[in-house]
Amino acid sequence: MIKGSCCCEAVQFELTEVPSMMGTCHCSRCRKVGASTLIFVKSETFQITKGRDQISTYKAEPPFKYDRCFCSVCGSALGEVLSEADSFPLAANCIDSDTGLENKFHEFVSEKPSWLAIGDAAKQFDQHPFES
Ligand SMILES: [Zn+2]
Ligand SMILES: [Zn+2]
Repeated sequence: MIKGSCCCEAVQFELTEVPSMMGTCHCSRCRKVGASTLIFVKSETFQITKGRDQISTYKAEPPFKYDRCFCSVCGSALGEVLSEADSFPLAANCIDSDTGLENKFHEFVSEKPSWLAIGDAAKQFDQHPFES
């Protein structure tokens, strides 16, 4: 069982399976909410075990689709944990267990600030790697 929580632990969750994909987004939106490195989880393997009612959502305005969930007590970015999709991005920062996952790619590298140096050998994409 993989466990995760926000900074104040008001929100806690569990994953029954190690997700297969981890990636880092360097767009300004992910950077500003503090959730650049994301793990893509299957909804059926994810469960909020505490504090569902403490989660607030910053709704994306079109053309953006990704709603940003965060703990309303401590402000920790959680990813899209209230999503009803089959899979969704979860903020890697919130994971407490060692998953053994490695970052697989960097996206929106064209928006990366100059002060941030990429320190791994994962593939880099100027935009989104899976759509043109
Ligand atoms: Zn919290
Ligand atoms: Zn992003």
